[in-house]
Amino acid sequence: MPVPPALVPSPVEVLADERLDAAGVGLLLKRDDLIHPDLPGNKWRKLKYNLEAAQAAGATRLLTFGGAYSNHIRAVAAAGAIFGFETVGVIRGEAHDPLNPSLQFAVDHGMRLTYLDRQTYRRKTEPDVIDRLGADFGDFYLIPEGGSNALAVRGCMELAGEITDDFDVICCAVGTGGTLAGIAAGLGPHQRAIGFSSLKGGDFLSDDVAVLQRDALGEVTGNWAIETDYHFGGYAKSKPELVAFVDDFEARHGLRLDWVYVARMMYGVYDLAAQGRFPRGTTIVAVITGPDFEAQTRS
Ligand SMILES: *Cc1c(COP(=O)(O)O)cnc(C)c1O
Repeated sequence: MPVPPALVPSPVEVLADERLDAAGVGLLLKRDDLIHPDLPGNKWRKLKYNLEAAQAAGATRLLTFGGAYSNHIRAVAAAGAIFGFETVGVIRGEAHDPLNPSLQFAVDHGMRLTYLDRQTYRRKTEPDVIDRLGADFGDFYLIPEGGSNALAVRGCMELAGEITDDFDVICCAVGTGGTLAGIAAGLGPHQRAIGFSSLKGGDFLSDDVAVLQRDALGEVTGNWAIETDYHFGGYAKSKPELVAFVDDFEARHGLRLDWVYVARMMYGVYDLAAQGRFPRGTTIVAVITGPDFEAQTRS
């Protein structure tokens, strides 16, 4: 099967919406969900330089970590299939039979899965755990959980430079924070970034983003902030308001938002606009960091 090329730069679309007009705010969508069907969105950007580094190091095998529903696990499996690496996915918690659709996708793309109990998973960066994985699977190039490291930040830094329209604020979802760290680092002097945490109790994320920026750039840029009130109960939890928002957005705009990440960010953008938190005349870019994989599975 021929590998479709990555659609980079990803398209930018104007979103016309009367609710944003009323708030005097313009919205552009950066359609990173369209970058590649198997390796979309921020996962493509975060893996790009990691894959180059793995190739340069002569590695033949990638190993990474994630939860059972992780888009990152899925993306590493796809990257392995496309670029010719063996892949190992180390999954938090117990194995379930049958596999859920994301893990089934990973296995279908050649990934070997192994499971760590939650306690061991918490210690996954410690040498004894890493050595054990090396003994079981052979040498590997390690990509951290969520794919967030200095090379991932470098990949995401390229996003803002692809946007030729003027804008003031750029918004993205936050899981581990690598995407926000990179996007903010790539902004012009009068622009700022807002991340929307998909996790409950996401206050620690600001430290994580700062650490990632320091690793990648040697400094922390002061042009970003994280909104922590749009988690809707926590990671991969849902609430009727969020479902209603996703359905309504799809009815108006024909785009089904990924409810785990993108929908929370978009809900937050509309809510901040309604609260008057953006001066009239502000142009916002909302990054569609990935597609709704569930809709793809259903259809
Ligand atoms: C993984 C993911 C995120 C989170 O990115 P981080 O760099 O971990 O913050 C956001 N949106 C989508 C669609 C994702 O798959």
